[in-house]
Amino acid sequence: MSFVQRTTRGFGSPGKYIQGPGEMDRLEQYTSAFGFNVVVLIDSYLFDTISERLRKVYEHTASKLHMEKFSGECTLKEIERITKTAEKCKSSVIVGIGGGKTQDTIKAAGAGLKIPIICVPTVASTDAPTSALSIIYTDEGVQTHCIYHKINPNVVLVDTEIIVKAPVRLLVSGMGDALSTYFEARANAESDTANYVGSGYRRTEAAMALARLCYEILIDEGLEAKLTAERGVITKALEDVIEANILLSGLGFENTGCAAGHAVNEGFALIPETHGFYHGEKVAFGTICQLILENRPKYEVEEVIKFCLSVGLPVTLQDLHIRPSFENLMIVANKVAMEGGLAHAEPFRVTPEIIYNSIAAADVLGGYYKELYKNQ
Ligand SMILES: [Zn+2]
Repeated sequence: MSFVQRTTRGFGSPGKYIQGPGEMDRLEQYTSAFGFNVVVLIDSYLFDTISERLRKVYEHTASKLHMEKFSGECTLKEIERITKTAEKCKSSVIVGIGGGKTQDTIKAAGAGLKIPIICVPTVASTDAPTSALSIIYTDEGVQTHCIYHKINPNVVLVDTEIIVKAPVRLLVSGMGDALSTYFEARANAESDTANYVGSGYRRTEAAMALARLCYEILIDEGLEAKLTAERGVITKALEDVIEANILLSGLGFENTGCAAGHAVNEGFALIPETHGFYHGEKVAFGTICQLILENRPKYEVEEVIKFCLSVGLPVTLQDLHIRPSFENLMIVANKVAMEGGLAHAEPFRVTPEIIYNSIAAADVLGGYYKELYKNQ
């Protein structure tokens, strides 16, 4: 049996990434590259408008279109339903139009059937469209496990006109998720931890550069993107931030790895009060915790907190509706420090005590800067 050497590098990515206003109307061009039987899974709240639009796009083409409404949860049952539909339609390609859970469902169905998939995200709140992994939930919405697929989506098609119509909070949440990418990449590089591309590959220089660029775009253009999105205006800054949220964040985390930022988010899952918050909102606060845990320089912590405040990401426990009691935070800290958890990609030994201290310290610092910049 062959094994990967510690110095072997690995990089995975979608086959193609397309982003621009009105790109949904060119979907047939991309599906027809794989064949003419097309199964499309669409989020229920968008189903009527998008199915109508796609019917027009596909009429007078050689492609046969079959559209399904997404159940709302990426469960094993939903994956099986789409798999059976795709089999019945002799589907040559499966398309997912909607949020991260829709994409995770078609990724799993496509991987099972070994047929190409196209992800069309309608929100920029997650990097699910680019990665080769699906997060599986129960019918009740409780996360059970992840499935790592052998290949990434064949095409990721982002229509910025659709993204800009989604609530701005989702775009901001995507920035929160993307905010962690570089810092988690750096932690993985310092501890020389394997990425998620295969079994034991190290990160490429390309992946580190993408993670760095992801952070730079947020700092330079994040605020402008948020403000223009609020007015429904597409600018270069907004296009750049959408690319950072979906492509750079996705390529970044998969090719470098997650660390304490995402581990804190997983810990928050045990606090019911946080369930109304988006992934990226919790990851943003987790990123501040990670920087304090790593004892990074003041300017860096300050830059991240200032960025969060400028776009409206949480900087305190209260912002996430978490009571800052010792018992509450130790529930989170114990989960974060659990054996085999993401926090062990940090370049030092992680214990519940130091996690507790960094969460409490992040809360205090977040509150301090919030007060300081209140009137600016
Ligand atoms: Zn994430």
